[in-house]
Amino acid sequence: MRPVGVFGGTFDPVHNAHLAMAQAALAALGLARILWVPTGTPPYRAAPVAAAEHRVAMLEIALAGEPRFAIDRRELAPGASGYTVDTLAALRADLGAGTPLVLLMGADQYAKLETWHRWHDLAGLCRIAVFARPGCPLQARGADVVPMTPHAVSASDVRERLRRAADVSALLPPAVLAYIQRHHLYGHP
Ligand code: ATP
Repeated sequence: MRPVGVFGGTFDPVHNAHLAMAQAALAALGLARILWVPTGTPPYRAAPVAAAEHRVAMLEIALAGEPRFAIDRRELAPGASGYTVDTLAALRADLGAGTPLVLLMGADQYAKLETWHRWHDLAGLCRIAVFARPGCPLQARGADVVPMTPHAVSASDVRERLRRAADVSALLPPAVLAYIQRHHLYGHP
């Protein structure tokens, strides 16, 4: 059975590096599909800037046309713990023991994996695939590395540029930018 990728993030907003990562992962890891898992607002984490409905709507726009991408909303459900280990255990229960799961993340997240809730239990639930990120030394330590030209894009940079009305057209899909403008997100006038 081909593995299923699990790509968690705030996606506040989804940007071109996220999309490049997912395409690279499909090809390099032979994934059947990728489940994009937008984070909720658990109390232990800073709240995203845009509401979940907007973050999901932007994901829907960005992922349209790629049938191997789907959005998994389970971390947005009331009462969801938001811990990746719980999300993976639930996915494992839903998909069955025969479907390998691969958790996708940037080098910045992987560098702090040991701070994650019950991180030791992740190994029993999934493989981890890591992507280089400018400014973050990549120490794979047992994870797979997905080859990809590093992209100097971050959602915080996109938000900061939008606040000062700077050009972000090279950083995210045009239809996502149009959504941001239409809904005046991130301080866009
Ligand atoms: P922010 O700037 O708000 O922290 P972000 O750009 O890191 O956001 P997230 O939605 O938090 O975006 O990221 C989801 C996942 O994508 C994380 O695993 C993160 O490491 C990874 N990621 C995001 N941007 C890049 C990038 N440019 N290169 C590699 N990995 C990235």
